[in-house]
Amino acid sequence: MSKALVIYSGGQDSTTCLFWAKTHFDSVTAIAFNYGQRHVSELTAAKQIADQAGVPLTIFNLDLLSSVSHNSLTDSKMEVETDQPDHRPPNTLVEGRNMLFLTYAAIFAKANLIDNLITGVGQADFSGYPDCRNEFIVSLNQTLNLSMDFEYRIHTPLMWLDKSEIWKLADELGVFDLVRFQTITCYHGIPGEGCGTCPSCKLRRRGLLNYLKSKENG
Ligand code: ZN
Repeated sequence: MSKALVIYSGGQDSTTCLFWAKTHFDSVTAIAFNYGQRHVSELTAAKQIADQAGVPLTIFNLDLLSSVSHNSLTDSKMEVETDQPDHRPPNTLVEGRNMLFLTYAAIFAKANLIDNLITGVGQADFSGYPDCRNEFIVSLNQTLNLSMDFEYRIHTPLMWLDKSEIWKLADELGVFDLVRFQTITCYHGIPGEGCGTCPSCKLRRRGLLNYLKSKENG
């Protein structure tokens, strides 16, 4: 029996991965992290969606992450940058987040004899976050296998998809409306269409409009 663990946040990308995993593996479990994110409402959404999907979700605390460095996702005193600055990622980058999430997920997975790890990172529409790149995932996969002497396989179904193609995938998986109205991607924690002005909302909306247009044109 194939078993998979999805690193889950209640957002558009990881929700699409959650339902993708259900069609590819016999048994699917999810893990989420509370790391002091200002939009903690995403964890409520994560719980509700995982329940609907019939996927058990475990939420772990990673409070430490917000005290070792500062970024606008965990520090409510910092303004969220609305434009991509030159030559560096925006201040919404949480340094080391994906490495820590995947590492904790791998420890949890091995303890539960799960060898497939699924994460919604991608580099097609990425916001300049270095830990969303394929090169990093391939490297960490090797490191985790060596570290725990276990044959993990990290799956990144969204790696080469842009936002419009991620909407298409959700539609193909039969969860277009669920993703559109229940997930939280907005940096201000507003579900569905979100605040409409933060970089995450803009990216999501642009992808949605492109997808709806391409669908109209057949
Ligand atoms: Zn927003």
